[in-house]
Amino acid sequence: MTSQRTRNRLIQRLREEGINSEKVLDVMASTPRHLFLDEALAARAYEDTALPIGYGQTISQPYIVARMTELLLSRAKSLHRVLEVGSGSGYQTAILARLVDQLYSVERIGPLLEKARQRLRDLGIYNVELKLSNGGFGWPEKGPFDAILAAAAPASVPAELKQQLAPNGVLVLPVGNERQHLTVVTRREDSDQFDVETMEAVRFVPLLSGVVR
Ligand code: SAH
Repeated sequence: MTSQRTRNRLIQRLREEGINSEKVLDVMASTPRHLFLDEALAARAYEDTALPIGYGQTISQPYIVARMTELLLSRAKSLHRVLEVGSGSGYQTAILARLVDQLYSVERIGPLLEKARQRLRDLGIYNVELKLSNGGFGWPEKGPFDAILAAAAPASVPAELKQQLAPNGVLVLPVGNERQHLTVVTRREDSDQFDVETMEAVRFVPLLSGVVR
């Protein structure tokens, strides 16, 4: 159920759904999603669905991980310093880590963060710094970032995240309450101006404030 053949079937499905970045597909084909799930759910790891990871949270659907990563890669001019908001299981973190130079990732639920930290270590992924905090405020000490990806939906784009974008930096996130849309915010070069693109409807857990230890 977790064999390379099963994984390849998922990659084929992602292609059919319109993902065409070979870089993204390659990384997803070689990242073991089953290691980011509890054993009881591991057999379902290569289905294209979100699955529970505890604390009322979910590991993102592979299609969404692929789509957001592809958007980030296609829009960003460089990917030296990248911020992820909502590490969750660490799956999207592992994918991004293999495509950028240095990744910073924040999560508000302590036990999820510690599990993600252990999994990344087990996989030999060392270019990630993780922190327990409310990612709605970004990680100002580590910015500015070439790209920011958020896996939880705020009601509107947080000003702090926009401000932590480098010139030409790109922010990809779901935005909205009941009705959410994938949104791409790009900072213009040499200015405080931002371009906003609203893409397809999506369903993510909400971006919440406060930290759970
Ligand atoms: N990409 C992750 C998705 C996890 S779901 C994965 O595939 O596993 C979204 C995560 O965002 C949850 O773990 C949730 O706890 C976290 N989250 C929600 N609001 C947050 C906030 N303000 N700061 C940091 N993380 C947050």
